[in-house]
Amino acid sequence: MSPTKIEKAEKRKRDEEAPLEKVKKSKKDKKNKKDKEDKKDKKQKKEKKEKKTDDDSTAADESKLDRTASPATTAAEENIEILASYQYKENAELSALPQSTIDEFYKKHTIEITGDLRHRPILEFKYAGLPDNIMAVVKNFDRPTPVQAATWPISLSGRDIVGIAETGSGKTLAFTIPGLVHIATKLKQGKKNGKPSMLVVSPTRELAMQSAEQAEAAGKAVGVTSVCVYGGVDKQFQRKAFQRGVDIVVATPGRLIDLINEGSCDLSNVSFMVLDEADRMLDDGFENDIRAIMGYTPKDRQTLMFSATWPESVRKLASDFLNKPMRVTIGSPDLAASKNVEQIVKVIQNPRDKERHLLDLLKKVHKSRTNRVLIFALYKKEAMRIERSLEYNGFKVVGIHGDKNQQQRTQALNSFKDGSYPLMIATDVAARGLDIPDVEYVINLTFPLTIEAYVHRIGRTGRGGKKGVAYTFFTPEDKAHSGELINVLKEANMKVPDELMAFGTTVKKKTHSAYGAFFKDTSGVEAKKPTKIIFD
Ligand code: AMP
Repeated sequence: MSPTKIEKAEKRKRDEEAPLEKVKKSKKDKKNKKDKEDKKDKKQKKEKKEKKTDDDSTAADESKLDRTASPATTAAEENIEILASYQYKENAELSALPQSTIDEFYKKHTIEITGDLRHRPILEFKYAGLPDNIMAVVKNFDRPTPVQAATWPISLSGRDIVGIAETGSGKTLAFTIPGLVHIATKLKQGKKNGKPSMLVVSPTRELAMQSAEQAEAAGKAVGVTSVCVYGGVDKQFQRKAFQRGVDIVVATPGRLIDLINEGSCDLSNVSFMVLDEADRMLDDGFENDIRAIMGYTPKDRQTLMFSATWPESVRKLASDFLNKPMRVTIGSPDLAASKNVEQIVKVIQNPRDKERHLLDLLKKVHKSRTNRVLIFALYKKEAMRIERSLEYNGFKVVGIHGDKNQQQRTQALNSFKDGSYPLMIATDVAARGLDIPDVEYVINLTFPLTIEAYVHRIGRTGRGGKKGVAYTFFTPEDKAHSGELINVLKEANMKVPDELMAFGTTVKKKTHSAYGAFFKDTSGVEAKKPTKIIFD
């Protein structure tokens, strides 16, 4: 119980006890007084009865208010109490399912689990046995996504996990829900000291904000507080959150280190840690920062690490910082385009014609001017130029790229998400990891620098089980990527235009920093079926 609650309770007790003391002091006085009051009471009651007004409803409202007086802490404490009493135990109905159902689930979603724990995946929410207050967070979803189904039994049992799964697979709730259970258990044990218990480290501001949004919403349901920490904005708000005390921190590495170094943020109480998109963080040069951050947290924490791929650098990080992790791979860690995306490549011989082709294409795919279309450019300048040109042509368009400040980027993203500006033009870095619902078309105005970026770009559509279409303009300037693109198209059983074939099918052997030796050169080899998680 917090000191204010104790004080409140004591005050209530004093108020309640005070008249009794008076009674003890002067019983006689009291008797006389009581007689008088009784008479007065009777008179008042009579008057009240006679007076036919709508007082009843007022009284009812007041009593309702009384019952819910000081409700916030009580409700939060009750919620924490309920959540803290939860312990993962395999549900009897789940245990009774035939093994073939479980095997089919693993096969259908290409799930592989390695490690010493043998838990059945939580195929339905009801099998999790989680209390209603936390289940409210997923009330709009039919069933757990594959990554949630496979990782919850492990993380809810307190074990470390390496999860190989992409953004868009539902992994934010895969780690947020066990995180909340963990925090509740800790709060119940009276370990509340204002320092954060859960830390999520994300590679980009946008991704951190997305995760923080989900943590905030889920946390609210059970009275757990959170803060999102990222660079490019004033530090004061973030400092204040730490001063007030906060349970969950979602952060990008650079700003977090800044706040630790200046003494605003203390990670010594973190016991549940998530490294999100580990491969991208390493790819973006955050390795030293991540290692430093891990060093500020206690060693006996529970650690969950998510990564879209599983190169050597990520394995090393896992072996250095995770304790006997279970490894859960959803889909294939090899590069493969989403099966839900139709890929259409248009070869344009003169790059100067791209803008005209874009306007023609928009006439076709953005006729309604309301459906969401995401256009990718390669460089900031190009993004800015196209944004202006589309505006000039009467389109409601927003842009996100490195030259915009955080507020402008957030604003742009929000107006794209809420549909007030259904066209968005983005560069790869700005759009990395973004979860934008219902993007109907992706248009690659300029081909990206790597084939991996191409796969990530087109994966912005066709999410959550929906179908999407990706158009790609390919010019002689992109010739070096023709072989790789042809392979990706073939793997997904897409049409390869003759003009693209004419650029050649050679693929330069390479080792990508994020994909390592796991980058697959499939030129000339019979295409392997692409694997991607499908929500059904
Ligand atoms: P994430 O991979 O965490 O970025 O999640 C991608 C999207 O999936 C988000 O918009 C989530 O709200 C949504 N999502 C999370 N869990 C589920 C679920 N069980 N069923 C359907 N959608 C979900």
